[in-house]
Amino acid sequence: MRATTTPSAACATCYTCETGAMRPANMRGRSFDYRDERGLVFDEDLEVFTCDSPACGELRLGGERTARVDAVLERLRLARIRRRAADLPGP
Ligand SMILES: [Zn+2]
Repeated sequence: MRATTTPSAACATCYTCETGAMRPANMRGRSFDYRDERGLVFDEDLEVFTCDSPACGELRLGGERTARVDAVLERLRLARIRRRAADLPGP
């Protein structure tokens, strides 16, 4: 167990559950909890190494991908807040 080692090989064993394999998966349609929002559905195409164990689902992000995922989730979060605000009765 060397969690500090930079992962390089595809299909490496997942560090979290130690049984699944890390495989590239498209994040589109995947649901995320981000900040105070739950179940934000990713709506862009982005390949990220993901644990193939359904019970785990660990994502391997880093650098550019983290920034990209954060940007999309932030956009989805703001869109949801705006929608929610629009649904509220006015003062
Ligand atoms: Zn895993």
